[in-house]
Parts: sequence; structure tokens; C-alpha cells
Amino acid sequence: MSCLRFLHRPGCWSSLKGNKLQVGTISGSRCFSSTRILPDDNKGSTNSIEQINPQLPDYNTSINIHEHKLQRPTRPPPKLPRWEGLQDLSERTKGSLIPETLKEMENDKDFQISAKQLKEMGQKKLTREEKKRRQRALDKIGVPDFIQFWNNKKLQNGITDKQQNLKKKAIQVFQLNIGIYCNQACNHCHVESSPKRQEMMSHEVARKCIDILKNSPSIHTVDITGGAPELCKEFRYIATEARKLEIDVIDRCNLTALLEPGQEDTAQFLADNKIHIVASLPCYTAKNVNLQRGKGVFDKSIQSLLNLNSLGYGKPETGLKLDLVYNPLGAFLPPDQKKLDEQYKKELWDVFGIEFNKLFTMTNMPVKRFADFLFRRNELNDYMDLLVRNYNLNTVDKLMCRDTISVSWDGILYDCDFNQQLDLEISKESGTMTVFDINSVEDMTESVIKVDNHCFGCTAGMGSS
Ligand code: SF4
Ligand code: SF4
Repeated sequence: MSCLRFLHRPGCWSSLKGNKLQVGTISGSRCFSSTRILPDDNKGSTNSIEQINPQLPDYNTSINIHEHKLQRPTRPPPKLPRWEGLQDLSERTKGSLIPETLKEMENDKDFQISAKQLKEMGQKKLTREEKKRRQRALDKIGVPDFIQFWNNKKLQNGITDKQQNLKKKAIQVFQLNIGIYCNQACNHCHVESSPKRQEMMSHEVARKCIDILKNSPSIHTVDITGGAPELCKEFRYIATEARKLEIDVIDRCNLTALLEPGQEDTAQFLADNKIHIVASLPCYTAKNVNLQRGKGVFDKSIQSLLNLNSLGYGKPETGLKLDLVYNPLGAFLPPDQKKLDEQYKKELWDVFGIEFNKLFTMTNMPVKRFADFLFRRNELNDYMDLLVRNYNLNTVDKLMCRDTISVSWDGILYDCDFNQQLDLEISKESGTMTVFDINSVEDMTESVIKVDNHCFGCTAGMGSS
């Protein structure tokens, strides 16, 4: 219908040349609807169309309209020279990334300090210390707390809703963090993943998650994250069972995991099950990607994207969705998403011949490894100030926590993946709530979301969830 409306819109023209439908615009307001339809009794009179306007050079459309085809626009050929590294890329990217990641962790001062602190203080105490640091930064700029700030902003903008606390809407997304194990150890990772982390979801928890899905008709998406989810043992079970229920599955993929030994058929598995890939690629240059995500990550990411394209991922006609995620290298907000999407598409196509569907920009959350990174560089105060200065009231409605339940590898329930890392679990009267306490997520609508000072990362600029 919209197509027909377009063709008959004043100021638009369309014609059929041969079998190709061409559509464009002209100035003025000539259109099909301005053609006079002559009544039958004018037959034989001098008022036929040809007589009104005998100059109709394109009035020769074939009546075999079933043969008419609408052609998709084709991509222009690359304008820039292709990357010379493409030549032997598949050879260069053979083998596991893990030895390189472990070597980097051993030589990286930040990782060594974190490991020492973790040993001395334990995870819970470190998390409390991190929270205090964020709060000290907010105290300096006179920001009381996240919820009070939100309510003040609403008042300032003339919004008078009665909701004083952030509450959930209907739960549509079931996010499963199925393990912390990862073949990379990125310096901004909010999960503190690495090849040294062995925590993974058990089959018992995974099976219970599937049971919950069966009883929760409001859920349309299972968002599988990690670590590197594909390297966790329950990944294929969860993905396959969710697809059998006709639920969309997202795989939060780091790209390099698909090239690990033993994962040779994972990309094909993703394609066969029509799994939506959301992949991290913080730049289209080797230097920036390797700086943030580790040596060797760029080459493997490019090889993996080429492999996914060869299976049809990222091509509009296949329905195999491949989205990319950009997050800034340091303590600044991401650029405009739409403009960066265009820039990524141009660079990746011109230089590497890579296609993808959509780019998402995300703000770095001031939690865990990135919070440490900022604190050691004395940048945490400025970063919290930046987040508060760029508070965007419009992000609140779309926050991940509004329509998501997030499950950790050990089955504990949270409002989002960030809360998982900060031990802010959804609780019941007797304590922590796990997947074994619920049969469905349907009655979690309207429950109050646990927010804290890290949440300013989700509401700055265009948001982060
Ligand atoms: S950011 Fe992703 S790829 Fe990097 S270490 Fe963390 S989980 Fe792994
Ligand atoms: S971190 Fe973001 S998604 Fe999580 S509870 Fe806070 S605002 Fe919501």
C-alpha cells in the first residue's frame, strides 16, 4: 500500500521501461491522478488519450505484468583501495586467541593490580569500594541519587506523572548471561571476563530457563550474552530450544570466538537457526580495536565478519541479521549513531568488502574494569560529571531494565546485566531470587527496578542499553 501511495503522490513520477520499474521525483505536480478518465460514450469522439497527447514515447509497457521486476539498488563498487592484509588473512587468523590474551594479561599492569586487589579484598568488597568511588564523584557535583535526579528532571520538564520509582513494563526480553568465560580480556569489560574465568551456566539452570520461556508468552526475545556465549556449554541447547518456541534469539558475539578451535561449525549453526548476531567492533582500524580488545582481535574480527557475510549475514535479502556495536575507546560519549552507521558502512565496505545491517552506539558504563581504568587515570570524577551533564530524559522509557529480566550463569535474577556485576539482585522477602523461584515472568510487570549511581551511564547521551 505504501508503495502505491508513493507512486501516486503529487510530485512523483514512475514509469516502466522494459521490465524495470523506475521511480523518481520531478519538480511540479504532475501525477497519475491528474489524468482525466474519459467516459465510454466518448469512444469514437476526438477525445481519446492519443489525440489529447500523441507524444507518449514510453506508453509501451508490456501487459505481462507478472514479469515486471522491482530491482534493488546495488551497492556502488568500493572507492578506497582494499586492505592489503586481506590477502593472507585466513592463514593469519588460524589457531586460538587465548594464548595471546593470557600473555597480554600477564604483561598488563592494570590486570596485575586488579588481580592483586581481588585476591586481597574479595569480589564483594571491591564492588562496594567501586560504588563508593562513584558516589564520591557524584557528591562533588552535588548529585543526590539517580531516582531523585530523575524526578527533579521530570519536574523541570513539566512532566507530572505519579511514578516516583522506576518500574518494569511487560517483560519482553529474557537475557541470559550463560558464562563469564571468554577468549578475550578487553580493557573496558564490565563483566571482567577472560580465559581465566570458568563460571558457566549448568544444564539444570538452562532447562529451567526454557521452562520459564514456555510459560511466559510476553517474551519475544532471548538475549544470550557472556563472556563469549558460544564458548559456553549450554549455548546451543538454549538457542535451539528458544527457536523451537519461535522466540527470536540474539547472540552477543565477540566475533573472534567463532574462530576458536572446536567452533568451526558455530557460524553455520547460527545461520541455520536464524540467530540474530550483535557483535562488538569498536572501530574499523586495527590499532584502535587491538588497543581496546587485545592484540590479534582486529584480524580475527574481520575474518569472522567475512565468514558471516559469506553465509548471508548482513545482507538485506537473507533475513540473517548482523548488527555491530561501537563503544568509545575512552572517557567520552559516542558520536551520533546514524552518522557513525554511515561511516562504518562506507569504511567496512570500501576497505574490507564487509556488509552489516545496523550499528548501535553505546556509552561505556562506569562499572568494573572500565571504572578501574578511569579511577587509575584519575578520570572517574570527570566521567561521572560528563554522564550527569548529558542526562537525557528520553532514554528512561527505553532502558533495558524496563522490559528485561536478566539471569546470571548461576540462575540469579537481576533487572539488567550491569546490576548482575554489582550484586544488585532482584530480591524476595527471604533473600535472593533465582529462576527456581518463578514459573513465568508474567507477574513481574510493575515491579520496582533496583537502580544506583552506575545508572547514569544508561541515561547519558543516547543511552547504553
Ligand atoms: S567485553 Fe566481551 S569480548 Fe571483551 S572480555 Fe568482556 S565479554 Fe569478552
Ligand atoms: S544500569 Fe541501566 S539498565 Fe540497569 S538498572 Fe540501571 S538504568 Fe536500568
